[in-house]
Amino acid sequence: MKQGIHPEYKKAVVTCACGEQFETGSVKQNLHVEVCSKCHPFFTGKQKFIDAGGRVDKFRKKYGM
Ligand SMILES: [Zn+2]
Repeated sequence: MKQGIHPEYKKAVVTCACGEQFETGSVKQNLHVEVCSKCHPFFTGKQKFIDAGGRVDKFRKKYGM
């Protein structure tokens, strides 16, 4: 294995707004995100998922669908 081909690509610590931290590869060493797999509505259970469905219903009523 040759070394030094990708000197800019380092391990980065990603910090989410929920407090979750995980490592990824990036040219930046510290990243901040607002949602991650731990707190994204898609992953956090049915409650928020149902809320999202309610918004879709309002959208449909508004546009007569
Ligand atoms: Zn998160």
